[in-house]
Amino acid sequence: MIGKGILKGMMETARNLTGSFHDPERLTTVSYPEEKIPAKENARNFPFLVYDGDDWESGLRCVSCQICEKECPPQCIYIEKDTQKKADFLGKLQFQPKVFDIDVSVCMGCQICVEVCPFESIRMDRDFEYAKSDRFEGLLLHKEQLAKSNKYYHQIHPTEATETDAIREGKRQDHLAKERAKAEKLAQAKEAASKSQSKEPNKE
Ligand code: SF4
Ligand code: SF4
Repeated sequence: MIGKGILKGMMETARNLTGSFHDPERLTTVSYPEEKIPAKENARNFPFLVYDGDDWESGLRCVSCQICEKECPPQCIYIEKDTQKKADFLGKLQFQPKVFDIDVSVCMGCQICVEVCPFESIRMDRDFEYAKSDRFEGLLLHKEQLAKSNKYYHQIHPTEATETDAIREGKRQDHLAKERAKAEKLAQAKEAASKSQSKEPNKE
């Protein structure tokens, strides 16, 4: 019958409307901002910069490689490299960002910056309450506003943060194995050199 689907839809709407007065399950909206629906684990809005430990400046993972800046489709990331270097989690000296800004009025939340970052430094936040009266400076987030701890990352995206920790631990183990292999090779070379020296006839 023509219109059967429309009637069915209207019945469902009417059922939800009347039901919403007595059944909380049928309430599809809440009185925001007084009430908030808890965000889902996979919810994402804008990026943030992850730091390890308690000090955001020394713990910032970003090494200022600028890959995310180049790959961001609307070009809303702005990075200036510092001339100073600091040790990363493997002990290697790396650059750090002197300036790291994201214009969240332009960011489209595509997550490409996250996908291209080789250092697990940038991740997606769930925070969305960024409304400001100043559309320009107010929505240009600087590194001190973007920096959020790994603990926070675990709170908002526990599964993804645990996987990221495992990736970093894997990298650390690979690095340690390479360092050990290098040290062993060096020790073997030294031993071989001292053996060949002791075999040489005394010319005096
Ligand atoms: S989420 Fe997309 S638009 Fe936003 S900063 Fe990252 S790459 Fe750019
Ligand atoms: S966030 Fe990642 S990709 Fe972007 S500059 Fe820092 S280390 Fe490079």
